Amino acid sequence: MLLLGIESSCDETGVALVEGGRDGLPRLAAHALHSQIAMHQAYGGVVPELASRDHIRRVLPLAQSVLAEAGRDLGEVDVVAYTRGPGLAGALLVGAGVACALAAALGRPVMGVHHLEGHLLSPFLGADPPEFPFVALLVSGGHTQLMRVDGVGRYELMGETIDDAAGEAFDKSAKLMGLPYPGGPWLAKLAEAGDPAAFKLPRPLLHSGDLDFSFAGLKTAVLTQTRKLGAALEARKADLAASTQAAIVEVLLKKSLRAIEDSGLKRLVVAGGVGANRELRAQLDAACAKRGVRVHYPELHLCTDNGAMIAMAAAMRLQAGLQQPTGRYAFDVKPRWPLASLGTPEPQFG
Ligand code: ATP
Ligand code: MG
Ligand code: FE
Repeated sequence: MLLLGIESSCDETGVALVEGGRDGLPRLAAHALHSQIAMHQAYGGVVPELASRDHIRRVLPLAQSVLAEAGRDLGEVDVVAYTRGPGLAGALLVGAGVACALAAALGRPVMGVHHLEGHLLSPFLGADPPEFPFVALLVSGGHTQLMRVDGVGRYELMGETIDDAAGEAFDKSAKLMGLPYPGGPWLAKLAEAGDPAAFKLPRPLLHSGDLDFSFAGLKTAVLTQTRKLGAALEARKADLAASTQAAIVEVLLKKSLRAIEDSGLKRLVVAGGVGANRELRAQLDAACAKRGVRVHYPELHLCTDNGAMIAMAAAMRLQAGLQQPTGRYAFDVKPRWPLASLGTPEPQFG
């Protein structure tokens, strides 16, 4: 069974082909990505209207190049999957609209996929796929969550951020330091040359006893430091970047370890854009190795948004018998959509 997956929830247009079957893990046949980062950089963040328009321009050429790369014909596609949410409504509608139009033209069904389930299952695309059950640390631009995962579609929220996401904390702090958008990778690069102990920054909720996160106070502390430093910021930027990264990483690390302890599980999956952070990976690897816990990551280039994870999530849901592709081409996107609600049936209207 050949699945075409389309991701368009934010500022990345991703298209992929995944070959799925009854047995064994579905396999990635080809994927292609266009990042809008350069386009949004001038505005210091994603401009939703520009994002939607650019998805329209990119999605079909990307689909063509993926088909060419895999040596497959559009007519061979059995199911068209797309990101149904969460994300920017206009951007989601492009992926949903194109998916439904392609599927209708081919006489094939569609499948709407949860973007975060895509991130969560993205390590299954790699050479070292995890086994269920596991604890998942989902750290992206819009979400920071710890989940207990017992199988495809079986997600139990253990804790989450009460304000900013970890990626947002990286991006907002980086912006205060004058780094380009999105600041996460820039801040991480700058941090390599800095002293992580140079500035004392808050670790909110570190000792809260639960698995929730809060990063809004960190951003305020970074703002205070940049103001205090004034013209001296330039010379101390690497130290401030390293200290910021250290604060975020320490909270993510400690809470993940607590979640592992609470769950009694010996497996951790890290997914989402912040999962590409080398310092986070190094600290998680070291701490988990000591505890006999296996850590699984998506491949570096599949940490941020892509079509491969959407096609994969669709294939795995299909294989698990959790979702039937439908010939009802109603592109009902869900800009807000909690992942833990996936287990409960949706109300049916009409
Ligand atoms: P969501 O998935 O919650 O809807 P999103 O799709 O915008 O949000 P992702 O694409 O998963 O998020 O990840 C983007 C985020 O990852 C950005 O905040 C970016 O700064 C961050 N990021 C990417 N690489 C790194 C890195 N090396 N270090 C820290 N942060 C990083
Ligand atoms: Mg992005
Ligand atoms: Fe994402």
